[in-house]
Amino acid sequence: MSKQHLVAVVGAGPAGIYGTRKLTEAGHRVVLLNRDIKPGGLAEYGIFVDKEKMKTGLRKQFKKILADPKVFYLGHVTVGEDKPLTLGELKSMGFGAVVVTAGAQGTKKLGIEGEDCIGVYHAKDVVYHFNSLPPFSQRSFAIGRRVAIIGMGNVMVDIANWLLNHKKIDQVLVVARRGPLEKAYDDNEFEVIEPYLDNADMKHEIERIAPQLAAVGQNVGEITQKFVKEGAPAEGRRLTFRYLCSPTKVIANAEGRVAALEAEENEMVLQDGKTVAKGTGMMRRIDVDCVIYAIGDQVDASLGLPFSRGAFVTNPEKLPGDTNRAAYQPYDPQTKQALDGIFVAGWSRNASVGLVGVAKQDAERGMKVVNQYLASKEGLSSGDMEARVEALMERLKDQGVSVVTKEDIELLESAEQEEARARKTWDFKYTSDEKMLEVIAARKAAR
Ligand SMILES: Cc1cc2nc3c(=O)[nH]c(=O)nc-3n(C[C@H](O)[C@H](O)[C@H](O)COP(=O)(O)OP(=O)(O)OC[C@H]3O[C@@H](n4cnc5c(N)ncnc54)[C@H](O)[C@@H]3O)c2cc1C
Repeated sequence: MSKQHLVAVVGAGPAGIYGTRKLTEAGHRVVLLNRDIKPGGLAEYGIFVDKEKMKTGLRKQFKKILADPKVFYLGHVTVGEDKPLTLGELKSMGFGAVVVTAGAQGTKKLGIEGEDCIGVYHAKDVVYHFNSLPPFSQRSFAIGRRVAIIGMGNVMVDIANWLLNHKKIDQVLVVARRGPLEKAYDDNEFEVIEPYLDNADMKHEIERIAPQLAAVGQNVGEITQKFVKEGAPAEGRRLTFRYLCSPTKVIANAEGRVAALEAEENEMVLQDGKTVAKGTGMMRRIDVDCVIYAIGDQVDASLGLPFSRGAFVTNPEKLPGDTNRAAYQPYDPQTKQALDGIFVAGWSRNASVGLVGVAKQDAERGMKVVNQYLASKEGLSSGDMEARVEALMERLKDQGVSVVTKEDIELLESAEQEEARARKTWDFKYTSDEKMLEVIAARKAAR
């Protein structure tokens, strides 16, 4: 009995690509379907534009994994409800397993009044924009000169970095529910925006919230020492923080554009040893031109898996043997059944959690579960697998999808590298799908 299977992996970010390697190592063939033309996910379109070493290192690893003849890369293919291909269709096409590693493509809102006005954006959309991912790359963002970023993680740092160092706006104002010690960004990441920190304003802000910090046992002197440095903000561009503030309303001007953010001032209380923000009912107005939510993302419900509170529902049972096994299985709470042969991993399993290494590790653990599942099923012959891939290609063609293969990606990348060299820069990306498809077609025709 053949034990080799054909597996569909949906999403070619770090989780999908490293996961694919685990599947091919077990002898399986993988059809890797990816919404974007190029592979890499947030490693390509999220990690900050100037992290050359990290980005080129990851690209090299991904390229090597995709080069395996057991991997069929199909870019520019979106899977989901009302999309050219659904998960159910993939299952019925004879894939031994379907693995969803599509990241966290849904966006979270705060649900406050005015958040639909012009100039309120989600961090991911902005990050995709400055990392040149179509169609976000082609969208215009009404940024203005003063931007409030809601949230205090590394994504906030990337957005502030782009706004201050690249867009050279006047002020970034970070709005956070809790205090300085509750920051989620890493100090080494913060260094790129630290020169813009308005130290006088920071000192003032810590003084303002000092009683609330002291009330939860935090040492105000130490906090001041850690967060207030010397010197004026570089080039007059300012980075300021408003702590203990929860946004309650976006105030628009007569043209429907952001004019200010209204926020409720918080105090902090200790709950089970953790600091928790609690509204005081006191409101303050923060004048800004733009508001960016950097509060994490949720998974994309349109993929068609059971969904609850921003996440795909996974099997709550503790299965015998490997306690972690169930966590990779989508689960239908109505029928109380795990979905047979479908798995989730990476940011599709744990939205917005961790760096590339975490997504990789999660996918590798998840694929162990998939490989165990496949080992109990009858596999396919080589010919059967080829027939199924052909049937899939036919189906996508019928749907009018311009599928991009890994050979096409090589052609595109060589054109982009030439362009980068001509422009004397380390990286260059075409910013629309149409242009990328045109470049691929032109290179193919010239062969
Ligand atoms: C702004 C930002 C900066 C970051 N910077 C760093 C950093 O400096 N260092 C670091 O280590 N980590 C960084 N990370 C974290 C890192 O990017 C993630 O840990 C990792 O990319 C998650 O991998 P993933 O494969 O689960 O999801 P993703 O990277 O999001 O990949 C998902 C893939 O699925 C595809 N897809 C989506 N929907 C569909 C669909 N319906 N059908 C088919 N395909 C689909 C997408 O095209 C994409 O290729 C950053 C994250 C962000 C948001």
